[in-house]
Amino acid sequence: MKAIAVFPQQKQIRLIDHPAPALASPTDVKLRIIEVGVCGTDKEICAFEYGTPPPGEDHLVIGHESLGEVVEIGPGVKRVKRGDLVVPMVRRPCPHKECLACQEGRQDFCYTNDFTERGIKERHGFMTEFVVDDERYMNVVPAELRDVGVLVEPLTIAEKAITQIWQVQQRLPWACPLEPGKPAGYCHRAVVLGAGPVGLLGAMALTVSGFETYVYSREERPNPKADLVESFGAKYISSTTTPVEQLAGQIGNIDVVYEAVGASSLAFAVIEQLGMNAIFVFTGVPGRKAPIEVDTDRLMRNLVLKNQVLFGSVNASREAFEAAINDLGIFMKRWPKAVRGLITGRFAMDAYSDLLLGKAGGIKNVITISH
Ligand SMILES: [Zn+2]
Ligand SMILES: [Zn+2]
Repeated sequence: MKAIAVFPQQKQIRLIDHPAPALASPTDVKLRIIEVGVCGTDKEICAFEYGTPPPGEDHLVIGHESLGEVVEIGPGVKRVKRGDLVVPMVRRPCPHKECLACQEGRQDFCYTNDFTERGIKERHGFMTEFVVDDERYMNVVPAELRDVGVLVEPLTIAEKAITQIWQVQQRLPWACPLEPGKPAGYCHRAVVLGAGPVGLLGAMALTVSGFETYVYSREERPNPKADLVESFGAKYISSTTTPVEQLAGQIGNIDVVYEAVGASSLAFAVIEQLGMNAIFVFTGVPGRKAPIEVDTDRLMRNLVLKNQVLFGSVNASREAFEAAINDLGIFMKRWPKAVRGLITGRFAMDAYSDLLLGKAGGIKNVITISH
């Protein structure tokens, strides 16, 4: 079968012929892959910044944002059936008994760093025709989400973050007064940094949770991303016309910042704009650049005197996948055009080099493997 693989030692990316996987245990499930999303992580792997082949192999099949259809199940499979659409999870637990997180099925919080990730770290990914994995990593997607199901994995980043925001803020009397018909966050304001797919999906999730949501990004209005943001009820602010120092002045008390750009200088400038009892979630992974200056006295004073919390969040649990599938259904009922508008290009497998070596623009590009 065909697969897109990186060969880190030879610094090559190739469309290869790869052996098709077969069921190996009673709880294994075989998927025919329909679509695979391309993200910054894939591009970094293709720039050979990271990405590790399975032990003993010279190549890694990439791809971790996927949608597949179940074509075969082992005799012990209970959670999925043939014909189901599924999105597989990405991270697999480490083997260590002392890792409390992996032992509990929460490898998104692995303590040892010896986890593996499909398409990223020591396990082949999903940019291929067929995939086999245990049913415990499969998440069923309703058939009506077929054309947008590939967005589930990038949405899990926001879902895990939002779950933790509520958990962290249980330390405070932060719950909005109960108002029938209003979602939980209606009395709070959230700022999303970045208008890429992770930021836009996060903005949709925060909007559904009731937050008055702002997307802060470079490009001046009008632009297609600003139009998209406004089409689902969030507000767009350009950093070109509103410098960071004016952000809180323009918005009011910022209760949540959801960072989705991976630019640390911007992130730390925005931290200074955080409001009382606020929370800042980092999800981006910056490349290493020269150190920058940060006013640490001011930062620390604010953290203490304003009861602020900063935290980072990576990867996602089964619960986050389920929340993402549920929210994607809500997004599609409310804003089908905006959700479909996030997928700006569909390409065949042999267009991989344009997509992975960074020439293709748009918001989210996907590779269509089968129909
Ligand atoms: Zn990704
Ligand atoms: Zn672990």
